[in-house]
Amino acid sequence: MKIVAHPRMENIRIGDEVYSTATHLYAQVEATFPAAVCVRLSLLEPTDAYNQQLQLTPTPQLWRADEIENVSICRSCGSRHDLYNEHETGVPSRICGQCRSVLANGQDYRAGFAGE
Ligand SMILES: [Zn+2]
Repeated sequence: MKIVAHPRMENIRIGDEVYSTATHLYAQVEATFPAAVCVRLSLLEPTDAYNQQLQLTPTPQLWRADEIENVSICRSCGSRHDLYNEHETGVPSRICGQCRSVLANGQDYRAGFAGE
């Protein structure tokens, strides 16, 4: 049986930041697979059931390729160069300078059109 890589995995590298649409968490990619990434989350877990003490435990998880968004690349064209953060808060999606100027021109056009 031939393993076919998920198309989204073509532009995901180790160290990229990914957003999980399933859990609404962010994490850094530690390993890539044909249709999933391995991330490491720090979870608060009890060290002892009686003392109720908590410790941060690094916990590896597999996230499916169709449930993640790579936020380390331009959300429009997938470029890794000349990237800007799109918003101060919320999903930290990034956009490259070229796509940003194209989108900005489109917004100016629509604004002018609506004003007439
Ligand atoms: Zn772009």
